[in-house]
Amino acid sequence: MKIQNIELFTVPPRWLFLKMTTDEGITGWGEATLEGHTGPVEAVVKEMAGYFIGKPTDRIEDLWQALYRSGFYRGGPVLMSAISGIDQALWDIRGKQLGQPVYQLLGGLVREKLKVYVWVGGNRGTTAGEDAAARVKAGYRAVKMNATANLEWIDSGAKLDETAARVQAVREAVGPEVGIAVDFHGRVHKGMAKALARTLDPFKLLFIEEPVLPENNEALAAIQQHTSTPIATGERMYTRWGFKKLLEQGAADIIQPDLSHAGGIWEVRKIAAMAEAYDVAVAPHCPLGPIAFAACLQLDFCTPNAFIQESSLGIHYNISADLLDYLADPTIFAFEAGYVKPPSGPGLGIELNEEKIRAAKAAGDWHRPSWRNEDGALAEW
Ligand SMILES: [Mg+2]
Repeated sequence: MKIQNIELFTVPPRWLFLKMTTDEGITGWGEATLEGHTGPVEAVVKEMAGYFIGKPTDRIEDLWQALYRSGFYRGGPVLMSAISGIDQALWDIRGKQLGQPVYQLLGGLVREKLKVYVWVGGNRGTTAGEDAAARVKAGYRAVKMNATANLEWIDSGAKLDETAARVQAVREAVGPEVGIAVDFHGRVHKGMAKALARTLDPFKLLFIEEPVLPENNEALAAIQQHTSTPIATGERMYTRWGFKKLLEQGAADIIQPDLSHAGGIWEVRKIAAMAEAYDVAVAPHCPLGPIAFAACLQLDFCTPNAFIQESSLGIHYNISADLLDYLADPTIFAFEAGYVKPPSGPGLGIELNEEKIRAAKAAGDWHRPSWRNEDGALAEW
């Protein structure tokens, strides 16, 4: 079976879907979403198509190697998101060809169910407590929230108190059993990250995320000295080589590779194996669409150190469309008491509503917020 064609769809709210067709009629889907940078990824996929059209669909490793290594320039979000979407579509095709879910091709099930978490609150405001209560009422057992709005490089203790109050409101709303993760979102510079980590430690959080930007990962070792909370990072890191130093440094407890950015299912499975050797857990990043989420589930169900999965259902970015909107059967990701079951369908285990995807094709790109502090200086978002 050979790759015959590729089609790309930009759909609301900010997703890039990729449909791969073969000469034997099987089609595969991947998600190459790179939020706010759709055009460059589309261009790279089209450029790569010059190589992969006509190639055998079952040589996934070889195709990955060729796309990664033969471009001379490698890594980074744009090139790796393109490869990630192609990798997902190839696994979808392989699974459909063999009549098996992808996890069956990568070692088989290692768990019967998987915990999922969703977002509460937005970037600002005081609704996180109420949102969290509603999520728990809906059955979730873990939630994630942003720690702060914009911060100065060195900011006031009052901002830390505000964050603590929001986290406390969520803790009071959900009780001691529900996991609360707090995303620093790379907004916090090193000088404030230590204090914020220490301030939040009493809340016994599930993890703190991106306490500093990934380019400042050497600061994690210092932050680790100020908290007993597990430290998570990795959504803006790519490939095995990108994660190598982080794992060697030993300051991350959880890695969060994104299956639509880090290199796809197969690459993240390898990154997860590297992490396992350093006793580091995996929680794939996924504030993205249904194909990316389906790819994550396939990985989680065959990866021993994966312990929880992010879902974008109801996330504050999903304004014009939500996670389940493009699925032929939206019940496929249904969960029970905070857990999802392994999808039983072949490939990625989902069927898409192609008519709806085609109708949505003209959607424009998503624009990232741009923040300024009170003095007019640019703040990290
Ligand atoms: Mg994050």
